[in-house]
Amino acid sequence: MNDTIKPHAAEMETTTLGGHRVSRIGLGTWAIGGMEWGAIPESQAIDTLLAAIDHGINFIDTAPIYGHGRSEELIGKALRQHGRREDFYLATKAGLDWGQACGEDSPASSGPHRAAIVANLSPARLLAELEHSLRRLHTDYIDLYQVHWPDPTVDVAETAEILLGFQRAGKVRTLGVSNFTVAQMERFRAIAPLASNQPPYNLFERAIDAEILPWCAQNHVAVIAYSSLCRSLLGGRLRADMRFDDIRRVDPKFQPPRYAQYLSAVDRLATLARERFGKSVAELAVRWVLDRPGISIALWGAKNPAQLDAALGVMGWHLDAEALTTIDQIIAESITDPIGPEYLTPATRS
Ligand code: NAP
Repeated sequence: MNDTIKPHAAEMETTTLGGHRVSRIGLGTWAIGGMEWGAIPESQAIDTLLAAIDHGINFIDTAPIYGHGRSEELIGKALRQHGRREDFYLATKAGLDWGQACGEDSPASSGPHRAAIVANLSPARLLAELEHSLRRLHTDYIDLYQVHWPDPTVDVAETAEILLGFQRAGKVRTLGVSNFTVAQMERFRAIAPLASNQPPYNLFERAIDAEILPWCAQNHVAVIAYSSLCRSLLGGRLRADMRFDDIRRVDPKFQPPRYAQYLSAVDRLATLARERFGKSVAELAVRWVLDRPGISIALWGAKNPAQLDAALGVMGWHLDAEALTTIDQIIAESITDPIGPEYLTPATRS
């Protein structure tokens, strides 16, 4: 165990991943990459990254697909500005193809446009992506390298072999996967050490409860939950009359009649959070994720430093059994037409 987390941020819960001490809240940097969530000024993105470090959040999750290289570049800039590589635990990913050579970075652009994204774990793509990620992140090693999505056209064992080579070469410290089934994790683990899986998990999206979470707990594979705030729904600031010009325009939870159902659940959860715990619904939602047995880390997709202030409000308390029951009742009563995050699944290569 090392001591890279700032002493004044000692309130942040930590866990161990690949022998490294990491914060249990990780900064998710999909949004600050710009494209699907709308443009974010560079200074704001860098301030958000530096604020995370100040809050004791050293786990920084990114991917080449986020802003088509932009998110990784911004992290590289923040890292240079900060000056201490060891204060950042960099978790990036590989294997999503946005229809351009993976080193061709796009300038920050905005809008809901979701280009045809395809899972691509071809060896050539993986080799090229690693070098581009290292360059953009301005580092000579990546702490956690994750397969972003399975590619049905490539044997998982072949992918594991390539990532093992990256690890042996010292370019990658620890290996992980994302959006993998139990069978896919079993196959990966037969070839290379598997430290983590990154699935969607939040109050409204619990599919991993059935198999993935128990398997990971039994097999000591850390679970890094993404979309802890259900892509902003559980942030508590959304209203029925809001119109979205970003990825929420194509997220089925944000369309009628479901949007009203989810907002109604959030309103009731906010009342519970305030009256029982003196907390916001965002704090309750992330506390719920972190309190689930088998969850190591909850990713928080902040777009500005102020959005991260609530992260410390998640620390130092827990949900009790009565609250857990009430939460489940509220959700069952409010959301009669639930839907998962399947719309995020990339296309398969032809
Ligand atoms: P999320 O964390 O569930 O929600 C993020 C959104 O919540 C923000 O864009 C912001 O939206 C809102 N928000 C943030 N802080 C808030 C606060 N304090 N109060 C109120 N609202 C707040 O979303 P996510 O981006 O889907 O997930 C987080 C991370 O998980 C990503 O950045 C990425 O690193 C990772 N992820 C991975 C995968 C994968 O396939 N592996 C897929 C998705 C995400 P507004 O301010 O615009 O409302």
